[in-house]
Amino acid sequence: MLNISLVTLGHLKYSLKVKELTEWKSNLLKITQTAQLNHLQDPEGNDQEYLDKQLINLIQADQEAHFTVALIGAPLEDNYYMRRIAENICVISLFQMAEIVRDANFTIEQYILRNIYELVVIYRSNNALIPTDYATWAHDDIRACLFDMNMDKNDIVFSLHKPQLCTQCTARSQRYQLPNGFIETLKNELKKIQKPIYYRISDWVRDHPILALVFSSFFAIFLNLSASYIFEFIKPC
Ligand SMILES: [Zn+2]
Repeated sequence: MLNISLVTLGHLKYSLKVKELTEWKSNLLKITQTAQLNHLQDPEGNDQEYLDKQLINLIQADQEAHFTVALIGAPLEDNYYMRRIAENICVISLFQMAEIVRDANFTIEQYILRNIYELVVIYRSNNALIPTDYATWAHDDIRACLFDMNMDKNDIVFSLHKPQLCTQCTARSQRYQLPNGFIETLKNELKKIQKPIYYRISDWVRDHPILALVFSSFFAIFLNLSASYIFEFIKPC
């Protein structure tokens, strides 16, 4: 079990249900919110982005945790949505991503969890650190995989609903010493990252309009029959 320390940097603009992260049931990771930095200094980047060298001075790694994840509402260097700052510190940005994720009916918590699972695989596969070349794991091809490159930030939506570890990434992970059952547990837990139920039903209706119509017709008939039965039962003799 990896202990992951969560730190928020400044105002995230969007409300975050921290409990959904800290109470996430997992055999692989445990997230704890340990610190907040309420007043963030101005960014040093030319395009109002926070540079790695600035962030490294702002974020303190939690020594009790295996690694620390900082959340920020502002852009990061080169407009990446996640960056490695040190071998035990990463930053996840909500800049542009919060809108992309919410417009596609996902939640910001799902987006954070999906990225934390990506870090967990990297950390486990690299002798307990996040290496500088971690980005080489990513592939351009979009496979609904944790390691989709997502050069176009909008492509994140393809790996937010039940994200996977593709065959190539599974094979790559298995070249390293992993805890017993790690891959199986990971894949089972990734299936739990999914859209809220209302939007899953809405997606199903959109993909199966005829069936949805048939079901709703049967449901209407059922309601009508039930109403008639109840009326017969309660009407005065
Ligand atoms: Zn992959």
